[in-house]
Amino acid sequence: MLNCKICNYKQIKFFHKIKIYSYYLCARCQTLFLTPIPSSSNIANFYKKNFQYPAGVTNEKLIRFRASVILKNLKKMNSNGKTLLDIGSGFGYFIDEAQKIDLKVTGIEPSKNLFSTLNKHLIKVEIKNLDFEQYYAQNTLKKFDFVTIIHTIEHVRNPKTIINKALKLLKPGGVLYIETPNLDSHLFRVEKYNYTFLTPPDHIWLFSKKSFHYILQDNLKIQIEKISSYSFPEHFMGILKYFFKKRILTGHPEFISGSESKKQMLKLVQHDKKRTLTSFKYLVVDKFFAPLLTPLLNLGIYGSILELYIRKK
Ligand SMILES: [Zn+2]
Repeated sequence: MLNCKICNYKQIKFFHKIKIYSYYLCARCQTLFLTPIPSSSNIANFYKKNFQYPAGVTNEKLIRFRASVILKNLKKMNSNGKTLLDIGSGFGYFIDEAQKIDLKVTGIEPSKNLFSTLNKHLIKVEIKNLDFEQYYAQNTLKKFDFVTIIHTIEHVRNPKTIINKALKLLKPGGVLYIETPNLDSHLFRVEKYNYTFLTPPDHIWLFSKKSFHYILQDNLKIQIEKISSYSFPEHFMGILKYFFKKRILTGHPEFISGSESKKQMLKLVQHDKKRTLTSFKYLVVDKFFAPLLTPLLNLGIYGSILELYIRKK
């Protein structure tokens, strides 16, 4: 039997299979992961051929907005901090924002494809075309005030090692920021096998708050400054859509009694379906409700995306 690679628990359970990839769930640390872990060459091949980085103006705006929130928090936690290492920089929007507030930034991004696209996006940031292990092997002496791992840790084969090495690259008092999909989220509970972030083989890991407890537990020189979560209005709409779909399929139980014929039942359900779709469209068209209600998803760290600020003592 396989052990959980995060907490070493012996009873991991099969969760779901997508194409040739099987996800297993650890009941102790609440981590969902691909088993077996795809080989380095398998992953490299996938990124070369199939992987699409989310691009577009909306995505850029969102990353830049999120960057401003994260950077503000980081500066608050370490106000004298001047240097930042970003692991998995993507298009570089995050480090572009970091540069704007006068941080001296280093970005690393293993994808070669992305490098050719970077020029088109005219981002004036220096990103090294290396994976983290390569970078670490060459640069163990240079220490940073901040290290950020944003939507990257779910893609790597060995998250524990990456996090421990990232912590080694921090100066004492420095802060590591990790952001990744949240397995404790309402979104996962509702979508289950259709979970938005269940995208093998690039998402090898899906973590919960407990996963990080186990990943970090042997590290005595750290202190968790903040754990929280956030959600996008799209996640709220996804959850809402699920509930509406369920209602359409089951109809109103109070309307369907034993005396009614199947035809009448169908009529009622059809009518209900129409009404539901109209009101749903109203919500979509009127983009007011989703952004307004989205913060509700984040109460109690059940939002769609998990965010951790970890200080090195
Ligand atoms: Zn586990």
